[in-house]
Amino acid sequence: MTSVNGAYGFRLVAPGAALQPCELPTLSPGSDEVVVQVAGCGVCHTDIGFAFDGVPTRHALPLVLGHEISGWVVAAGENAAAWLRRSVIVPAVIPCGSCPACRAGRATICRQQFMPGNDGDGGFATHVLVPSRGLCAVPESLPSGVTLEILSVVADAVTTPYEAIRRANLGAEDVTVIVGAGGVGGFGVQIAAALGAAVAVIDIDRERLDLATRHGASLALDASTTDLKGLKTAVRTFVKESGRKGIGLKVFEMSGTPAGQATAFGLLDHGAYLGIVGFTPKPVELRLSNLMAFDATARGNWGCPPDQYPGALQMVLTGKIALAPYVELHPLEEAPAVLDAVANHAVRRRAILQPGPSIVKH
Ligand SMILES: [Zn+2]
Ligand SMILES: [Zn+2]
Repeated sequence: MTSVNGAYGFRLVAPGAALQPCELPTLSPGSDEVVVQVAGCGVCHTDIGFAFDGVPTRHALPLVLGHEISGWVVAAGENAAAWLRRSVIVPAVIPCGSCPACRAGRATICRQQFMPGNDGDGGFATHVLVPSRGLCAVPESLPSGVTLEILSVVADAVTTPYEAIRRANLGAEDVTVIVGAGGVGGFGVQIAAALGAAVAVIDIDRERLDLATRHGASLALDASTTDLKGLKTAVRTFVKESGRKGIGLKVFEMSGTPAGQATAFGLLDHGAYLGIVGFTPKPVELRLSNLMAFDATARGNWGCPPDQYPGALQMVLTGKIALAPYVELHPLEEAPAVLDAVANHAVRRRAILQPGPSIVKH
């Protein structure tokens, strides 16, 4: 099949307004493009930023949001024909592959990158048109408890902490602190534990902390009842008792809140590494000179290069990362209400929008 008619989705018309259902135009892939029938699309805090906080999308509104997509390739251009009928994860950031940044191995900062739901219509829809470059193939036969729709969260919530942790060279001699045990941090904890690190987690939600201790964290600290001084003391003790020889804590901020960022920064010690994974548009006040005084490193990452996706997917398929306890499925038709609920912190897990049985003619 060469194009898809009758696809529909939910688009943002103006910041602060509820998402509107819309019919999509005929989706006809160019020679290097594919149409993916969406199995699931995760709702990310970046979508909340676009929808409610006035963060501008790069493509003008109206725009179908959603960049955490898994699905089936149902139409493909001539150079992408090998993808037809394959199950795939669509990377949240799809680099061009040929610009100076891409050639220098810095694909995530490619200025010609395509991010679904930001540079073009995204995955809060039955179908999405994307470049075939960087698609991550998913095996047809999946382990029990893993489905293609819940694998959508690999597109961002799993791969973004995976890349942050990979860049930090986290290993078995390290002690790491993950700040924020929500939709991203819960996966960060599991990735760090799978690499053998001793993992402490900080959150303000008792349920999330308990879940993290069942899935990789050896120490859970409640920042709603413990101040920074208390957190520091507990972490120092944890480092001592861990017996790990790594120099400097590796701290990852995954809450995307000013309080979480201040806590993560406040934990830095000599030779520490700080990875910024969560996003908030709000500023925080920090004594940046601590980086100099501690000879510490702070680094962020915008997503994950597509060539790292198979490694992250493998961790899920081999059971090192459990997805099911951290996600919840909702019908695509409920997109406006689900976005509201995520924005109001009324959804405890990573929400995934799932289109119903397709009525679309190809
Ligand atoms: Zn995202
Ligand atoms: Zn590029």
